[in-house]
Amino acid sequence: MMNKKEQKIKIENKILLEIKKVKKLIIELKELTSPIEPDCAIGRISRMDAINNKTINEDALRKAKIKLKGLELAQENMNDADFGKCARCHNEIPLGRILLMPHSRFCVHCAS
Ligand SMILES: [Zn+2]
Repeated sequence: MMNKKEQKIKIENKILLEIKKVKKLIIELKELTSPIEPDCAIGRISRMDAINNKTINEDALRKAKIKLKGLELAQENMNDADFGKCARCHNEIPLGRILLMPHSRFCVHCAS
């Protein structure tokens, strides 16, 4: 069994790693969602594809931004006595779940 301090370090590292990953993703998605040039070089079909992909990427970008906010919030709240407890039912969230989804403030039960 890990003690609380070891758990905290593990969670902190995981949050930092996730923030790094999601920031990189946001940069990539921002590039992908930049306005589509009304370029004659691409045909009508591929232009429609580009528009469809843009919608998907915009959705992914929106989700990535929400995740980043949650991660930054988790980072801020790390030292709170309530950290690791579900925001709804106040039960302890298992370490495995925190490591998997550090941006989530709810236990599996309350999140669904
Ligand atoms: Zn809960």
